[in-house]
Amino acid sequence: MRYSGLRLLLEGLTGNLGWTPVLADPLPRSRYDVVIVGGGGHGLATAFYLARDFGVTNVAVLERSYVGSGNVGRNTTIVRSNYLLPGNEPFYEFALQKWERLERDLNFNVMVSQRGIINLFHSDAQRDASIRRGNAMRLAGADAELLDQGRLRELCPFLDFDNARFPIRGGLLQRRGGTVRHDAVAWGYARAAQALGVDIIQNCEVTGFDIAGGRCRGVATTRGPIAAEKVASCVAGSSGRLMALAGMRLPIESHVLQAFVSEGLKPVVPGVITFGAGHFYVSQSDKGGLVFGGDPDGYNTYAARGNLPVVEDVCEAGMAVMPMIGRARLLRMWGGTVDMSMDGSPYIDRTHVDGLYFNGGWCYGGFKATPASGWCYAHLLTRDEPHPLAAAYRLDRHLTGAVIDEKGQGAQPNLH
Ligand SMILES: Cc1cc2nc3c(=O)[nH]c(=O)nc-3n(C[C@H](O)[C@H](O)[C@H](O)COP(=O)(O)OP(=O)(O)OC[C@H]3O[C@@H](n4cnc5c(N)ncnc54)[C@H](O)[C@@H]3O)c2cc1C
Repeated sequence: MRYSGLRLLLEGLTGNLGWTPVLADPLPRSRYDVVIVGGGGHGLATAFYLARDFGVTNVAVLERSYVGSGNVGRNTTIVRSNYLLPGNEPFYEFALQKWERLERDLNFNVMVSQRGIINLFHSDAQRDASIRRGNAMRLAGADAELLDQGRLRELCPFLDFDNARFPIRGGLLQRRGGTVRHDAVAWGYARAAQALGVDIIQNCEVTGFDIAGGRCRGVATTRGPIAAEKVASCVAGSSGRLMALAGMRLPIESHVLQAFVSEGLKPVVPGVITFGAGHFYVSQSDKGGLVFGGDPDGYNTYAARGNLPVVEDVCEAGMAVMPMIGRARLLRMWGGTVDMSMDGSPYIDRTHVDGLYFNGGWCYGGFKATPASGWCYAHLLTRDEPHPLAAAYRLDRHLTGAVIDEKGQGAQPNLH
């Protein structure tokens, strides 16, 4: 069924009886060309691009729970391409360009809202770093504007410009950045992939790999064994656990990251704002809630729930940027398990096992990457070589020393 304004009108006039279920519930077949493990944004996007752009339709996405139950439905919805390093910036700009036409590609309203993102700076040195970042973005074809304090005051008068500790001197604006409705992305990719022949199989957990003679021939699941030419891992925060079943120890730690939503307020925050002197970012949802977050909890865990010290830490940082947030009541909060890599950058790569591929290490910024990750992973799966845009995302970069440490933090995953 194709969605359109006309369809909406007709259904509205005829009692809304004609809508069909968004997802079918197929039984797993015994064999596929490609089995994708993980029905999050990246797994579903990979399936869609495999079918649409690379002509591989005998594909299954195996999801242990329901589609969108993972980080794709738990994130704070920010998309942007304001990276500095050459290994990252062109990849994320490619993703942003794909977001810009995603609703047409999927025939699904994922609520892409290019309301802009501003990274605040608080010192002369930070202003210089922002200028450098903005130049790197523009060299890669992205947009970037430096805002001085006067211009920023016009856009965001509620910020605490004269904060004694962290005075706000200006910001780096990317107008094309913004937000996308997170769980709609999962549903949109799933529906579009299914329409191209992909089986989306929910409640099907992968519990092992069938590996013989150095080759992966399929997976064991809670719904029986499934053979496959190629198996593609795409399980974000569960990467360590899943790949251990294939004998791999990854350069990834799993941490819990929390998100917060306030009660609904009248429109106040024009786009996304990030604090430059601590970890805090905020946007306002279309329903009016302030959506915000900060650092991960800082200890290794697979639990998707966080602890109170980080609630305090995030709210403190929020108060330093916009004290009026202290008047808003917190409506809800949740956690997600994030796959933190050693240098803060992801992996899209083959593994040492033939036919077994790995996508992960997205830290707490993988939502914005979803379309590019899916497309480049589909490219790798079909051509057996990385797409040039993802060529830096190799597992062996820690051996060669070609790490992509955007924040310059070193090998401390929770700080990236
Ligand atoms: C609180 C929070 C805020 C965030 N904010 C942002 C943001 O603003 N912008 C941004 O770019 N990124 C953000 N992120 C990060 C982003 O959400 C993730 O990097 C991204 O969603 C990860 O990729 P995914 O969508 O494929 O993961 P997921 O949605 O987690 O998909 C992985 C799936 O694999 C399934 N799975 C696991 N093990 C198995 C198994 N054995 N068998 C079958 N299925 C399995 C899981 O159930 C899950 O559905 C945030 C994350 C969190 C938690």
